[in-house]
Amino acid sequence: MTGLFGRFRGFVVVLSALVAGCAPVPSGAPGIGGGSVVVPRPADAVELTVPPSAVAVAPPSCDATASLRPSGGLPQAGQMPPGSTMERVLARGRLIAGVDQNTYLMGFRNPFSGELEGFDVDMAREVARAVFGDPGRIQFKVLTSDERIPALEKGDVDIVVRTMTINCERWQRVAFSTVYYQAGQRVLVPGSSDVTGIESLGGRRVCATKGSSSLANVANAPSRPVAVSVPNWTDCLVMLQQGQVDAISTDDTILAGFAAQDPYTKIVGPQFTAEPYGMAFPRQHEDFVRFVNALLERLRADGTWASIHRRWLGEPPAPPVAAYRD
Ligand code: GLU
Repeated sequence: MTGLFGRFRGFVVVLSALVAGCAPVPSGAPGIGGGSVVVPRPADAVELTVPPSAVAVAPPSCDATASLRPSGGLPQAGQMPPGSTMERVLARGRLIAGVDQNTYLMGFRNPFSGELEGFDVDMAREVARAVFGDPGRIQFKVLTSDERIPALEKGDVDIVVRTMTINCERWQRVAFSTVYYQAGQRVLVPGSSDVTGIESLGGRRVCATKGSSSLANVANAPSRPVAVSVPNWTDCLVMLQQGQVDAISTDDTILAGFAAQDPYTKIVGPQFTAEPYGMAFPRQHEDFVRFVNALLERLRADGTWASIHRRWLGEPPAPPVAAYRD
């Protein structure tokens, strides 16, 4: 893994340079040796002056992590119940899964193989294996945080497996599996920073992606940071490296990937939120939710969950306990 980290670290430095290099240098900037050059920001970086509208109103309360109970055991791979969502996926010949491509460890593109990899990608492949008996029967669609729910609502994807926190507000638009990972929000800063956690970020610029619960949590933090919204998590790392934000705040899983990619960063402060991850589905596909919940029961019990955790995130704790609505 150390060698891999080293290679990806190089990749991010090059990527940062490429991203920076894509934006035109503003006219009048004299360049090397000629005074200051304005450092470009990632496209669509926005400083929020008010919290994202979705969280300005109090979300409805519900038992968010209670999902739909499996109806019996898992059907045999390759033989899905007639008329079911799984049968339609089987007939199509591939599962269409929404994932991330720039969150190292969770969902990222391996620059050497060109393949998508990570904890979430492996979990999505297990769903394909359960339907087809073959984890390779999968088509990935890369989604930003903000694209997840619309992609499910439009039917562009069968499932989203992308560091997605289960919450009551989202349950109004999509359905979730039981919890397959328990994350929590923390803070990442440059190694030299004096910041010790979210409470010391009042008035400072803190990056998170548009449409993420992380951005809402930053915007609503009692210490009153200035939330900076960007499309992709890698944009946050670029802005931190360029000194355009003081911190990134999101799930500890995503921050662990940044810390592995950039040794000049550190994770500080305790978790200040609970971010239970669920696989998400179009709301009407209750049969698929129950099917995946039966699969998750099996993956927790047979050691598959633990081995995927070990591969990407280190020694596994006990898997999250499933909760169901009665
Ligand atoms: N878990 C958070 C969310 O679902 C942040 C992760 C992300 O946006 O990728 O919004």
